[in-house]
Amino acid sequence: MNSLWISSINEDMFSKYISNSDSDVSSLSCDVCIVGAGIFGLTCAYYLSKLGFKVIVLEKYKIGQKTTGHTTAKITSSHGLFYDYLIHNYGTKCAKDYLNANEDAIYNIKNIVDCENIKCDFEFQNNYVYTTKIDDLQKIKNEVSALDSLGYNCDFVTETGLPFEIKGAVCFKKQAQFHPLKYLSGLCKSIIHNNGKIFTNNTVFDVKKDGDSYVTFSSKFNVNSKYVIIATHYPFINVPGFYFTKMYQSTSYIIAVDPKKSLFNGMYINAGSPTFSFRSAKIDGKELLLIGGGDHKTGHPSSYRDTYGVLEDMAKKFYPDSEVLYRWDTRDCISLDKIPYIGTYSNFMPNVFVGTGFKKWGMTSSNVAANIIVDEICGKKNKYAYLFDSNRLKPIKNADEMKNMIVQSSNSLFFDKFKSANMNFDDIANDSGSIIEVNNEKVGIYKDSSGNIFAVKPVCTHLRMLAFLE
Ligand SMILES: Cc1cc2nc3c(=O)[nH]c(=O)nc-3n(C[C@H](O)[C@H](O)[C@H](O)COP(=O)(O)OP(=O)(O)OC[C@H]3O[C@@H](n4cnc5c(N)ncnc54)[C@H](O)[C@@H]3O)c2cc1C
Repeated sequence: MNSLWISSINEDMFSKYISNSDSDVSSLSCDVCIVGAGIFGLTCAYYLSKLGFKVIVLEKYKIGQKTTGHTTAKITSSHGLFYDYLIHNYGTKCAKDYLNANEDAIYNIKNIVDCENIKCDFEFQNNYVYTTKIDDLQKIKNEVSALDSLGYNCDFVTETGLPFEIKGAVCFKKQAQFHPLKYLSGLCKSIIHNNGKIFTNNTVFDVKKDGDSYVTFSSKFNVNSKYVIIATHYPFINVPGFYFTKMYQSTSYIIAVDPKKSLFNGMYINAGSPTFSFRSAKIDGKELLLIGGGDHKTGHPSSYRDTYGVLEDMAKKFYPDSEVLYRWDTRDCISLDKIPYIGTYSNFMPNVFVGTGFKKWGMTSSNVAANIIVDEICGKKNKYAYLFDSNRLKPIKNADEMKNMIVQSSNSLFFDKFKSANMNFDDIANDSGSIIEVNNEKVGIYKDSSGNIFAVKPVCTHLRMLAFLE
């Protein structure tokens, strides 16, 4: 079933923004070629075209109909219980910068909505992370203390609008929600107005350096550009970059119900598992309740009962007369240290950029990413860029998590695409990687800038970590 967002827009909402290419055109040129027309790619295209850059967006499918068209679309800097984790693992400065970057993003999105007069049902709402379990209450209190120590004015509350009792919640004020596809439509209008072009049904399959610029190879034509932004959600170039060793995907499910009675204010997500996420959405004057959850690692089969079933039980319990109108699921990428990857795709591909690993908080993260990359292209220092550096690798701190991720989540899809390079282990320079053959088996090797070596190996349908060597 399509998402509420896709079902509630007119088929032709985007068609007026799609460029047609002459069938005999074999190549086009521009300043920045953007691969992917989700919220991240289109936000980049929006900012860059406004600054006078000539942009071309290439989309494999339709505008906004992958992850962005299946999101919950809460616009918040409250990413679950995250700030206590950030302070403990990365220190106060990183935590504060993460918070400020995402708070700025809420403001930026509101600014775009106002400047472009986008009718996307944007509304400010408080966001709550709550618990109904006494055992998790201390985690909520720790998060409140962490935010206090960052100077952020959040509230600890024990009562919310939810139709059940909670033990406690951390409340972020003046967060927001919107209709993501109506927002994208507003971005497209501005991109086209600023002479950008968007091509759909056009799959990009490679990006290659050509002198000082790049050629992006797509199913319809090639694009020559100085800069390329990979905004494909999951980065599709495996080597270099090696994002498949640095991220996994998680699938979640959402239902939209007619509650048949009035709803609460606010957006909610619980701490701990199983996840329950709530928000309202007004569609054609009717207020619907969105309930999300049922998370599992992508590729691990889960039953209807454990996914939609759990959400439907929740709806029935508190809204007995409710009717399920929409069901949908989608997945997002999660980095090993839970911080998105934003910046240069690989040190081997200068002027090619990426934004991924938004860990189900891509409404603000995509705006943070777009601002960092636009600043990079404009030669401006972005104060948050260091935190999201896409080429960071922290082998010791995250070794366990990385091992766990590779064993559990990666699959042979990635390795199937590889051809072994005709290289020896010693030929691989620092800050680069390759697939080599060891004892007739393919092994992915990556050396970081200090010479730390990472190796992954495909085993049946899984990758297994071979070793961390120094
Ligand atoms: C269930 C769920 C709920 C969520 N709820 C929230 C929320 O409430 N708030 C929040 O902030 N975030 C939320 N997120 C996260 C958020 O939806 C995503 O992080 C965000 O939409 C990702 O946007 P994107 O532009 O990176 O990816 P996408 O929207 O997937 O866009 C990528 C585009 O690239 C195209 N593409 C891929 N490969 C190619 C290729 N080779 N050539 C050309 N085009 C290509 C795709 O077709 C696609 O259109 C949620 C995620 C999930 C899974």
